[in-house]
Amino acid sequence: MIDIHSHILPGVDDGARTMQDSVDMAKQAVSEGVHTIIATPHHMNGKYENVKSDILPLVNEVNDVLKKEHIDLAVLPGQECRIYGEMIEDYHNGKLLTLNKYSAYIFVEFPSSSVPRYADRLFYEMQNEGLIPVIVHPERNSELIERPDKLYNLVKNGAATQLTASSLTGYFGKNIQKFSQQLIEANLTHFIASDAHNIHNRSFKMEEAMDTLEKKYGIDMIYYFTENAELLIEGKNIYKEIPEKIKKRKFLGIF
Ligand code: FE
Repeated sequence: MIDIHSHILPGVDDGARTMQDSVDMAKQAVSEGVHTIIATPHHMNGKYENVKSDILPLVNEVNDVLKKEHIDLAVLPGQECRIYGEMIEDYHNGKLLTLNKYSAYIFVEFPSSSVPRYADRLFYEMQNEGLIPVIVHPERNSELIERPDKLYNLVKNGAATQLTASSLTGYFGKNIQKFSQQLIEANLTHFIASDAHNIHNRSFKMEEAMDTLEKKYGIDMIYYFTENAELLIEGKNIYKEIPEKIKKRKFLGIF
């Protein structure tokens, strides 16, 4: 299995603090069946800045250590960029990193409670530049929970989205779990990843999420998500079903 979102690089954000933490996370990932992981440190989220030239050597360093420790996990470079107006400019300046460096897929994080007004236009321009925005954890954004049509429009216009494994398993509560299921059922999400920060309270949960998915939706859903992760790291087109709008729950009995 491939995990496309993780904070496994040591000492650069609120994920692994030390190389030992990175090693421990790698062991946990492998124990859940992950053989390849993309390291996606935070960038421009108000607290952390990690540009491409910082990330690439650190990924090599972690891979060297894992090799020495005989841990069978390949770490690929990536970045989790908080949305900002100059993203395209900074991509051309070499500060931003697409997932696995060579693909067109680029992680975009929204603030946790809003979607900036300029997101539509920025995504349109990104796609004109050959980039494919992948919205990380839309299920945890309170504006999207309130107004899922906003996400529908972004996906309809070419964005992809990534759901968090632990959202599906209920770690972030019932509402986020329910919304995660609605996103899957409405073809509004294309990847499942851990967004693991450590081995304790923000761990992988990939195996559990896949079990949950298989029980609820069948094995085909597992193939859909695992194959999309493979296609992403190979820089190929992913599978996309036609997105649908999420129907708002009706309050029965109230007139
Ligand atoms: Fe993250």
